[in-house]
Amino acid sequence: MSVSTLSIDLDALAANWRALDAKSEAAVETAAVVKADGYGLGSGKVASGLAKAGARRFFVAAAEEAIAVRQALGEGPEICVFSGHCDGDTDLIRDLNLVPMLNSADQLLRHREALPEAAYGVQLDSGMNRLGMEPAEWSELRENAEAGDLRLVMSHLACADEPDHAMNGQQLSCFKDMTTGVTAPRALAATGGILLGPDYHFDLVRPGVGLYGGLPFEGARPVVTVALPVIQVRTVQTGESVGYGNAWVAERPSRVATVAAGYADGLHRVMGPKTQVFADGVACSVIGRVSMDLITVDVTDLPQDPAALEILNAAQTVDDLADNAGTIGYEILTSLGRRYARRYLGG
Ligand SMILES: *Cc1c(COP(=O)(O)O)cnc(C)c1O
Repeated sequence: MSVSTLSIDLDALAANWRALDAKSEAAVETAAVVKADGYGLGSGKVASGLAKAGARRFFVAAAEEAIAVRQALGEGPEICVFSGHCDGDTDLIRDLNLVPMLNSADQLLRHREALPEAAYGVQLDSGMNRLGMEPAEWSELRENAEAGDLRLVMSHLACADEPDHAMNGQQLSCFKDMTTGVTAPRALAATGGILLGPDYHFDLVRPGVGLYGGLPFEGARPVVTVALPVIQVRTVQTGESVGYGNAWVAERPSRVATVAAGYADGLHRVMGPKTQVFADGVACSVIGRVSMDLITVDVTDLPQDPAALEILNAAQTVDDLADNAGTIGYEILTSLGRRYARRYLGG
């Protein structure tokens, strides 16, 4: 085995969905965001696991992403598309029975003309200025939009991971203003918004990253473990260097293990110096440069040479790796890459 293993704990995933679901009233539906291939973990498997836990509505970013999700879920669960009804999406929306979140007058027109009977949602811009109809556009279209099979009216928070940010309250009141009297279900909160409390929950919440074990959901159970097989272990004498650029030089006779993963697997080169790997819970330092396919580790202090080393687990989470790399847990998860052998545990 010379590729690394990415293990996904479907029981932890389900527990995270239930824990987030429990943060809102029973009448509030908890959906699940499985865009970007289920945050890199495999959208089909992840969606099936979450459906077993109780999720009935799923969100993807683009209609193409719904193919794997619909195949895994079968008919029944609703699959919503954040990017709405884009040019060329009509066949997928019809064939997979998708619910596009329409973002503009153009999209509303395209959808109603192409698929007059089909369901849809509307995405409103409450201040983030990324996707969605602005207040003036919405007030012109609202009557027309409400006349069809309108399933959801939603918006998205820009600063929900900072609970004290004034933007949260501003977006909340903007969203309320825009949706007073709307009879369709309303949704504003992703993971961060759920944690802001009941004012933000409305009729449906849409967690993503918290399901996969990431901040801002501090109570999340870790979902992902990455184990790196050791390909070779060598002795390095004092004064000898390891890896590109001679970046590490032995200060004592050392044992150096070379493991089979690198920046091509989303283990960013910049995270190297701050990152540890674990042999049965014992921490060892990454040394030298992270290269494309290989990482070198100082295993001198282990009682015996390890067969594999973990770089992502409960002791060093996606958010720890993100800190080491100067990014966020979302980017670590979605960068993990295609080369891993993906294993699904539990479920
Ligand atoms: C990605 C996304 C979510 C999920 O966000 P998390 O922070 O991962 O919970 C919800 N809604 C929209 C519109 C999104 O783009």
